[in-house]
Amino acid sequence: GNGCASAGPALLFVKTSRAGEQGRRFYACSACRDRKDCSFFQWEDEKVSETRLAAREEYNRSRQPSFTHRQNVERLKNFVLLALSQRKFCQDCQQLLLPSEWQEHSGHQFQCDISTAQLKTPSQLLYPLENKKTNAQYLFADRSCQFLLDLIIALGFRRVLSVGTPRLHEMIQSKASQDEDFSVRSLLLDIDFRYSQFYTEDEFCHYNMFNHYFFGGEAARETCQQFLYQNTGERVIMVTDPPFGGLVEALASSFKKLMSMWRETEKEGDNNQEMPVFWIFPYFFESRILEFFPSFSMMDYQVDYDNHALYKHGKTGRRQSPVRIFTNITPRMVVLPTEEGYRFCTICQRYVSSGNQHCEICNSCTSKDGRRWKHCALCNKCVKPSWFHCDKCNCCALQDHSCERTDAGCFVCGKAGHKRSTCPQLSLA
Ligand code: SAH
Ligand code: ZN
Ligand code: ZN
Ligand code: ZN
Ligand code: ZN
Repeated sequence: GNGCASAGPALLFVKTSRAGEQGRRFYACSACRDRKDCSFFQWEDEKVSETRLAAREEYNRSRQPSFTHRQNVERLKNFVLLALSQRKFCQDCQQLLLPSEWQEHSGHQFQCDISTAQLKTPSQLLYPLENKKTNAQYLFADRSCQFLLDLIIALGFRRVLSVGTPRLHEMIQSKASQDEDFSVRSLLLDIDFRYSQFYTEDEFCHYNMFNHYFFGGEAARETCQQFLYQNTGERVIMVTDPPFGGLVEALASSFKKLMSMWRETEKEGDNNQEMPVFWIFPYFFESRILEFFPSFSMMDYQVDYDNHALYKHGKTGRRQSPVRIFTNITPRMVVLPTEEGYRFCTICQRYVSSGNQHCEICNSCTSKDGRRWKHCALCNKCVKPSWFHCDKCNCCALQDHSCERTDAGCFVCGKAGHKRSTCPQLSLA
């Protein structure tokens, strides 16, 4: 196999060396870019020995989950028949246990008396994965999740393709099970296979959004295609919140494939329509995202999380999240909550944060981070309030920046002059 068990087919990358020199191409695992998590690496032109292939297959087998999705669905059916006192969840293995399995897990930490309500909120039962580069799980704060769902409903959508948004999915699922009149449906696509213990094959597909890979093969693809089928009159939106370490290019390519699956299901006629999308991502990726999706625009809404490392504390003491919604829905339709300070700019025809002032010269509400930005006549654009124009660099920067330039572009913003660790975009200061 040309790939890793937990991620599917590998992606082709290019290692660039000195300037001008042609980069050497290699395959690496699309999801586990951290070598510590996955050893898969192979030069494009490399010959792999039989022994190494065998070793790789052995390693892949050892990382296969212990049950298939189908088996997990059966197990859940049996699990809910158990008395509360018999319902145990192994925290070490992150697995619901049937009584016959308790023995195998002796010495492990159990959570007991798993209620039906807990089975409906798996994102609270499972611990968030913490792999820093690729698979860190940042769960929506309840307020933001509720806001997203209310917005989706207000916009008239009745189906949500949840790509890497397990908490939104579970909010929809549990409302649907409690309230007959609640008519929104959701399909979760996620690489975290632990969720297969809680959802049927119609509710969850094991999916890698870096290479558009359905682990469940054609059947899973068909489930997704069926979900996107539009003839039912229920409008569908895709909501995605990928890991920020992810490559925008790989993500965009997968999302375009999901969007074309939607287009294929479309009734004849309006072929130039795009599947509505909310792509949730930090604001400093704006230009990268717009490169791939020119029809998208960035909303000012700050998406909040229960556990986010990128938070900074604002002046008000309220944590400031750099995470925004990118969407191809007409901005003025995306109504942001006035009780949180958002207001409508009639010139820009969109909702903006309270501190975002309309700049007469730029003719737009220019702040990206919610604070009031100032216009720099030399740069001919608005910049962060803490920045000053530097004559040496011929641009605005923090007062104490170092003026020396390096040639390699920054990983985060792509600009030259600094490395990712000192990227001005990453700091809200
Ligand atoms: N805020 C969201 C969670 C976002 S965290 C919520 O509360 O619902 C990123 C999510 O993407 C996680 O659920 C993670 O399992 C998933 N993910 C990470 N890498 C992925 C990949 N390569 N393919 C599909 N899903 C992935
Ligand atoms: Zn404006
Ligand atoms: Zn301006
Ligand atoms: Zn300078
Ligand atoms: Zn940068």
